[in-house]
Amino acid sequence: MALPKRKTSKSNRDSRRTHWKLKLPEVSPCPRCRQPRLAHHVCRHCGYYNDRRVIEVKTEEKE
Ligand SMILES: [Zn+2]
Repeated sequence: MALPKRKTSKSNRDSRRTHWKLKLPEVSPCPRCRQPRLAHHVCRHCGYYNDRRVIEVKTEEKE
């Protein structure tokens, strides 16, 4: 098996990981109610996805 001739220096190892960072989830406003919504997910606020009602949304007030 091929082996590296030299140990990777701390500088090289760390600079390789400059792109290795946490990313926040993609959040975009819902086209229907303008509430923040995860991309490619059903809007939890109005229950719509692609102009179609997908889920029932529970309202705050109870009968
Ligand atoms: Zn919505």
